[in-house]
Amino acid sequence: MNTNEIMEQFEKYVIANYGRLPKAIVKGEGNYCFDAEGNKILDMFPGWAVSGIGHCHPKVVNAVQKQAAELLHVDNTFYIPAQGKLAEMLSKRAFGGKCFFCNSGAEANEAAMKLARKHTAKEKYKFITAEKSFHGRTFATVTATAQPKYQDGFLPMLPGFDYVPFNDVDALEKAFNDEVAAVMLEPIQGEGGINVATVEYLQAARELCDKHGALLILDEVQTGLGRTGKWFGYQHFDVGPDIITLAKALGGGVAIGAMMATSEVAASLVPGTHASTFGGNPLACSAGIAVIEAIEEEGLLENAINMGSYAVEKLNALKEKHSIIDHIRGKGLMIGIQLNDQGADIVDKCLKKNLRINCTQGNVLRFMPGMTVTKEQIDDAVNILDSVLGGSDNNG
Ligand SMILES: *Cc1c(COP(=O)(O)O)cnc(C)c1O
Repeated sequence: MNTNEIMEQFEKYVIANYGRLPKAIVKGEGNYCFDAEGNKILDMFPGWAVSGIGHCHPKVVNAVQKQAAELLHVDNTFYIPAQGKLAEMLSKRAFGGKCFFCNSGAEANEAAMKLARKHTAKEKYKFITAEKSFHGRTFATVTATAQPKYQDGFLPMLPGFDYVPFNDVDALEKAFNDEVAAVMLEPIQGEGGINVATVEYLQAARELCDKHGALLILDEVQTGLGRTGKWFGYQHFDVGPDIITLAKALGGGVAIGAMMATSEVAASLVPGTHASTFGGNPLACSAGIAVIEAIEEEGLLENAINMGSYAVEKLNALKEKHSIIDHIRGKGLMIGIQLNDQGADIVDKCLKKNLRINCTQGNVLRFMPGMTVTKEQIDDAVNILDSVLGGSDNNG
């Protein structure tokens, strides 16, 4: 089927809850994907950060093929070797906590919020989250997502949530009281526009949580697993969370989510309190193991740092040429290009030239390539962006 036929099929049979680009993707390889017409697209936003080490990384494909032939699924009534192994690998790269596995970012955050209520004192029920946050689309996580556009039409939201401006220590302090069960923050807001937390902010959040007996939950669904140049975003901030949540890049393209909590906090989830039928299944966990191994064996944390600074350097040079670019921000390969104007058009024009990037919040272009990205690929992407901007905006 060609793209038009596939689009017609969607029109008839698939609920239209996504604004889709007019392309059907049929194959992925590293930092490229291919559409139904055979066009090769340079993918600087693979799977919204899911394909964190590029499309179809051979180590992940191999691990999944092997596991699929061995045991696709077994339920959590039994011990699952790959689940234990992945938990140990994550724990040793984080703060030595324990993992609960699920299938998505929203589910990981749901688990985190349930655990926070279960673990803290009875009178504590409130969650504080930040404006421009993004935590998912289920009722609790969309309530936590302090952006009206995601809540409109679904009111009332769940009770017990307070929103504060991001990176504002005073506001956080004012919002705090002894009813707060947890503060949930992204170390770097992704969907919100690549807004990097300040060290003081996360450390103040930690201190306030300690003072009031609340938990600090860091949503690492987008920052997690290496993209920023460290395994977890919080490791840039010298702060210790009680709970982190992961998903997107963890399975290298296979659906998996995880919540990791310190052993003390984790002890509150006893049999019967929380569960997920698919969570921690052998297939997803074997993919997760392969992702971590690939990152280590191929030095991809280092590559994320090096290619991140290379891309920022190139993008800053582009800024000198195009007044529509206000500034570049981010960490590692989590890069936002703040525009002075709307960016949706730029995304469309790039795609016509076989470059895939993303635009969030209307005016922030997101560059989040796979951690295997090369200088040549960054050059290609920047050149295409340059030519696209040249057409719409050029102050010489
Ligand atoms: C994508 C995202 C989520 C939601 O993940 P889903 O897998 O879509 O449920 C939650 N938090 C952050 C920071 C995200 O980027």
